[in-house]
Amino acid sequence: MKILKFGGTSVGSVENLRRVKDILISDQENKIVVCSAMSGVTDQLVSLVENIKLEDAEAITRNIHRLESKHTDVIDELVESTEIKNVLKDGLTLLITELFEIANQEYSEIVNSQIITYGETLLTYIFSGFLKSLQIENVLLDAKDFMHVGTAENPDILEVSRRINKMFEEGVQSSIYITQGFVCRNLEGDISHLKRGGSDYTATIIGAAVNASEIQIWTDIDGLHNNDPRYVEETQPIAHLTYNEAAELAYFGAKILHPQTVSPVVDKEIPVLLKNTFDPEASGTIISNKTYRKGLKAISAKDGITAIKIKSNRMLMAHGYLRRIFEVFDNYHTSIDMITTSEIAISLTIDNISNLDEIVREIETYAEVTVEQNHSIICIVGESVINDRNSYKLFEILNYIPVRMVSYGGSNNNISLLVDTKDKIPTLRFLNEKLFHVPHEIVV
Ligand code: ASP
Ligand code: MG
Repeated sequence: MKILKFGGTSVGSVENLRRVKDILISDQENKIVVCSAMSGVTDQLVSLVENIKLEDAEAITRNIHRLESKHTDVIDELVESTEIKNVLKDGLTLLITELFEIANQEYSEIVNSQIITYGETLLTYIFSGFLKSLQIENVLLDAKDFMHVGTAENPDILEVSRRINKMFEEGVQSSIYITQGFVCRNLEGDISHLKRGGSDYTATIIGAAVNASEIQIWTDIDGLHNNDPRYVEETQPIAHLTYNEAAELAYFGAKILHPQTVSPVVDKEIPVLLKNTFDPEASGTIISNKTYRKGLKAISAKDGITAIKIKSNRMLMAHGYLRRIFEVFDNYHTSIDMITTSEIAISLTIDNISNLDEIVREIETYAEVTVEQNHSIICIVGESVINDRNSYKLFEILNYIPVRMVSYGGSNNNISLLVDTKDKIPTLRFLNEKLFHVPHEIVV
């Protein structure tokens, strides 16, 4: 069994939905197909949640009608038979009625999750019907019936597995199952979600649950690139990445993958392929446990980072000082990404500033605290990158750009720099030039 996940752009137009259909029928193996919402739809649903918070009935109606007509147009263009078209439109009307009912409730976390995951419900319903209209047999599974993950941080794969297998045993058999990404249920059994971009994570959770032979993540680019193609010209797709490398890149900003994507499949060693819906023949990126080449692979950048410097003479030769500082962050459930220390000061970074004021207030009772926002972590990744003979060249950046922190040697696979976000693009370009535009001689 393979898992194929299609992102927002891949299902974002009638033309692209037809491409997805072609990809599905080009491979005979049994598959579970995980779909995102059409591109732009989740953003619109997020704004619908804002309308609900403001109890703006007119905006709610306008917003839902817009979604309805967008999806009605898709049915009209996609499906040929008038009879099937009408059946599908009747079903869509029911789904839209249900959406109105949810939107008429008072705002709560559950309402939020129900609304923002609705784009996946609408799209999978239409796509499954479209395939049926072409006699491509498939079964639409409701992800809410089996994605009982408990917590998104540590999904209960066994429970998901038990539920999927039960559905397979009791339900109609098919070689193609279609389901929704992004939505899940929490420990209470309430509808929840896997955070924005979470359909990738759905695919690997399901893959681990059914012991898939392979997971394919179909997007609009030919795999993970060695630098951010939005800011740097002439980036190259990377053919192979290890799970470690992919996890670091996804966590540190590579937009193509949800940060937690690979974690469910690492132990089971299920390969994850990143493929391009618009160029299915391109080989894309294969993420697996195999190291084909050590050394420098890619650079990514994560924005929205806050640097905190904590300085105190009491730190000099004292033990237990770091524990005291880390405890404060722990008490406020705030995780720390980068750390550098000197004898009397420590600098660290966080990306969640919701408890920043409290944290600073507490530490200020015994140390001097300086906070600097709007920073970016630039992450240079590759198995054994610190042993790559070319990696020293990245330090030439110090001649040109004020680097706020450097983290080297924390792991063999990652070197991180902290820069002001206004210097992010020049940093990415500089590093690209220095590290990738050289005959790559790697000695590890
Ligand atoms: N539709 C959701 C989003 O836009 C989930 C996903 O596409 O992965 O974030
Ligand atoms: Mg995505």
